[in-house]
Amino acid sequence: DQVAGPSDRDEHTLSNGSIEELCLSQNDSQNEKVDGPGPSQSRGIWVFLEQTGGQVAPVSFELLGAGCRLADALGVDLAGVLLGHNIAPIASEAIVYGADIVYVIDDPILENYRTKPYMQSVVSVVRKYRPEIMLIGASTLGRDLAGAVATELRTGLTADCTGLEVDPETRLLHATRPTFGGNLMATILCPEKRPQMATVRPRVMDIPPRDPSRRGRIILEKLEVREEDIGTKLLEFISDEKIEEANLEYAEVIVSGGRGMGGPENFHLLRELAQLLGGEVGASRAPVEAGWVDVSHQVGQTGKTVRPKLYIAVGISGAIQHLVGMQSSDVIVAINKDPHAPIFNVATYGIVGDLFQIVPALVKELRERLPQQEQLQD
Ligand SMILES: Cc1cc2nc3c(=O)[nH]c(=O)nc-3n(C[C@H](O)[C@H](O)[C@H](O)COP(=O)(O)OP(=O)(O)OC[C@H]3O[C@@H](n4cnc5c(N)ncnc54)[C@H](O)[C@@H]3O)c2cc1C
Repeated sequence: DQVAGPSDRDEHTLSNGSIEELCLSQNDSQNEKVDGPGPSQSRGIWVFLEQTGGQVAPVSFELLGAGCRLADALGVDLAGVLLGHNIAPIASEAIVYGADIVYVIDDPILENYRTKPYMQSVVSVVRKYRPEIMLIGASTLGRDLAGAVATELRTGLTADCTGLEVDPETRLLHATRPTFGGNLMATILCPEKRPQMATVRPRVMDIPPRDPSRRGRIILEKLEVREEDIGTKLLEFISDEKIEEANLEYAEVIVSGGRGMGGPENFHLLRELAQLLGGEVGASRAPVEAGWVDVSHQVGQTGKTVRPKLYIAVGISGAIQHLVGMQSSDVIVAINKDPHAPIFNVATYGIVGDLFQIVPALVKELRERLPQQEQLQD
């Protein structure tokens, strides 16, 4: 049987041939090998469902969308892997966002992320069910977990991908990622080992529409790790809000500065504007390289990909390496004294002028117009 190709994947989802092969591989699962099964015994697309404190990381939903597309192209099921404690509601959420199956391990040991029990849990379900592709969000947690899982399974992992395609004939994942500091886009294949693993950058893929009518299977698995065998203990969890790192990926408003800011002492202008709008401060690479702001603020090919409702680019020329990180923002406002700056090509609204006049004027106007309770205090 032919599986659906990229052009007609919406019409043909599950082909009979693939279903038979899926059943075959599951019946055959007693035959475990240390190196993991080969390509012919592996079927299905898996997404690791990242959660902390019962909150699903948005990147997991983005990956369900991407995974759905790959699963349709290959004619297989999309499954989620969910680890944690008291996490039942998340499993059904994953189904609503596109998963056909969710493998769940619910245990107090998994309440907070620790590499060893999470790695061993993922590895045990992968060995049992043999997916051909496994996707993990390139968050701090995901990057840690993926390396550990891939090493244990002795399979291939492409990190921080920005593009995923699958070839229905060879069933190979084409995982594309920027490399050499963004100078080269590399498409990497893993022909022999399974699963083909990739971590994917947050905010690159779209979250699929929520479909409450979807039905799927939730399969409970047992934890095979004992607390005594885990070397790490969690003493305290300090959330992102309490540290200086910029949290740009899911900010609704970002006010970004470039080389035009002239120096670190002027970034307070942007912080003031961002605070008024309840947003975060971003930057192009120029101020990061000059040491004016921390690299966690950098937007672009070698920085973060962002999609806020409002992106204000202040003194940023709009080099392609910057644009790829922010051009999907809903509304882009550009402030630049050069009317020919390429940033104006992607801007919804453009202001040509000196930022040292415009930004303070904007702040003043916003202070007067915004209702008092919406203004966040310094
Ligand atoms: C491999 C590679 C990866 C890269 N990755 C990234 C990345 O992730 N992110 C990124 O941003 N860049 C990246 N870059 C760098 C990128 O090519 C540009 O050099 C960089 O984005 C330029 O930053 P800028 O726009 O702030 O500075 P410039 O290009 O110098 O632009 C400054 C702008 O400020 C304006 N300006 C100056 N003074 C004022 C004023 N008083 N009022 C108003 N406007 C003013 C100027 O007209 C100008 O348009 C990468 C480059 C390479 C080669």
